Amino acid sequence: MFDTLTTRLQGAFQKLRGKGRLSEDDVKDALREIRRALLEADVNHVVAKDFIDRIRERAVGQEILQSLSAAQQVIKIVNDEMTELMGGEQVKIAHAAKPPTVIMLAGLQGAGKTTAAAKLALHLKNTEHRHPLLVAADIYRPAAIKQLQVLGGQIGVSVFSLGDQVSPQDIARQAMDEARRGGFDYVLIDTAGRLHIDEALMHELLDIQRVAEPDEILLVVDAMTGQDAVNVAQHFHEQLSLTGLIMTKLDGDTRGGAALSVRHVTGCPIKFVGTGEKPEALEPFYPDRMASRILGMGDVMTLIERAQATIDEKDARELEAKIRRNEFTLEDFLSQLQQVRKLGPLDQLLGMIPGMGKMKQLQGASVDEGQIKKIEAIIYSMSLAERRNPDLVMKSSSRRQRIAKGSGMEVRDVNQLLRKFDEMRKLMKQFSSLGKNPSRALGGLAGQFKG
Ligand code: GDP
Repeated sequence: MFDTLTTRLQGAFQKLRGKGRLSEDDVKDALREIRRALLEADVNHVVAKDFIDRIRERAVGQEILQSLSAAQQVIKIVNDEMTELMGGEQVKIAHAAKPPTVIMLAGLQGAGKTTAAAKLALHLKNTEHRHPLLVAADIYRPAAIKQLQVLGGQIGVSVFSLGDQVSPQDIARQAMDEARRGGFDYVLIDTAGRLHIDEALMHELLDIQRVAEPDEILLVVDAMTGQDAVNVAQHFHEQLSLTGLIMTKLDGDTRGGAALSVRHVTGCPIKFVGTGEKPEALEPFYPDRMASRILGMGDVMTLIERAQATIDEKDARELEAKIRRNEFTLEDFLSQLQQVRKLGPLDQLLGMIPGMGKMKQLQGASVDEGQIKKIEAIIYSMSLAERRNPDLVMKSSSRRQRIAKGSGMEVRDVNQLLRKFDEMRKLMKQFSSLGKNPSRALGGLAGQFKG
């Protein structure tokens, strides 16, 4: 996330750090670099200028320049101001006093609206323990209804649809009845997108709004489109009075400008960010955590929350006991790999650990999805007995051949997996004898399977 921006900002801070006491010129140079980094990241130029002005005002105060930790203080000011720029406090999703809470999702085609609807439903279901209903009101994009139904099936959330021959207002009206009847406490309406903003789209959205009286109108914008995303948000906000934004595709090589500018330009808070294609890849947006990540200081809170949502504490303890007893099997390995994978791509996780951002650039460490699928295929081709007792496979070449054939892999792939597994088992044993929690080391170990 925002790698280039982070590297540039850290470069500017590094120069300050080397200096001890700072002169006004030092600060001026640093601010110039920060400003340039922001502009390169596609931050709106008015926003960048205001931002720098505020930092200068605070940093050039006598007190700070005199102090020995001037560099630290400048970094703190940048952190504070960046948090403020993105809105300061987290703005939570609405929760209507009288259910159902209605959320209407709008956005241009391809922004990630349908995906975001499913992600939000999963978040409400899993994290907030709600009972959401997804509503397919995009009757124009041919595959949109089907896409929502498939996603709903995957995440176990009901999808209300009346096909593509009923008007979106009627769909919304009947969906509200259905929600009340079925005891749903959230209604998420996936509306139609267009390639460009047009009158007809706005009219349709206003019609749905009249019928459904949403508590939230969230605009889904694609962070990769930079300042365009900000302009689109401004336009929608003028017409629809948005209550917030979902900014998608922050996992891509977006430069970050949209995330940094949109609140300041439109006054609309980002409520969630999308960080991948999977339904789990949605995070509530916290300005302070995001600022910390952009400045390369990590975001341990989000990491912990993600781990808590995905990794079962009891499982982790059982696993630890197994490793101590040297009973770690390929079956455990597979289930661990799948859990770690649910946490998100490894490079994203590394970015959340303070100081690890740099390392990730050095190593380009990412768990290669293809590689993991290969491992899964191989393990799935083993019998239960083999998974529980890998020695059976290690000792028998005919078993290895059969497994290779069954999984569509080469025998050397099977051998490689077994070798790595063996190395890992030894390493884990060492970890556990050191009293470290081995399950925590798994993320790193999974990286060993890169090739
Ligand atoms: P819609 O036309 O706005 O409904 O867009 P879709 O929900 O169909 O998404 C368009 C494409 O963007 C799909 O390929 C999604 O998988 C992808 N997408 C959506 N959100 C994200 C995200 O946060 N990260 C990434 N990498 N891809 C996303």
